Amino acid sequence: MSLPNCPMCQSEYTYEDRNMFVCPECGHEWNEAASSEEGEGLVVKDSNGNLLAEGDSVTVIKDLKVKGASNPIKQGTKVKNIRLVEGDHNIDCKVDGFGPMKLKSEFVKKL
Ligand SMILES: [Zn+2]
Repeated sequence: MSLPNCPMCQSEYTYEDRNMFVCPECGHEWNEAASSEEGEGLVVKDSNGNLLAEGDSVTVIKDLKVKGASNPIKQGTKVKNIRLVEGDHNIDCKVDGFGPMKLKSEFVKKL
């Protein structure tokens, strides 16, 4: 396992001390658990504030207009096997009848 770079100054010369990481360059100390969560990069929460993970299934909580489609994605539509992505629309998924789609996590609910 390689040590993470310092989140404050990006130094590579970090070391582990008990369950903390320490940066000798700027003196920053941080917790492994917190850094690994940040290291994953994406914290995506549904409309209820539950954390979403890759592969989760969600339900759409309101009708969503789709650019170029004549019908909205209906409230209650189930979406399986989501992927998490960066950005405003942070869920990448396939919606039955619509195809590949990006959704905002605030408009879905974890199943
Ligand atoms: Zn540092």
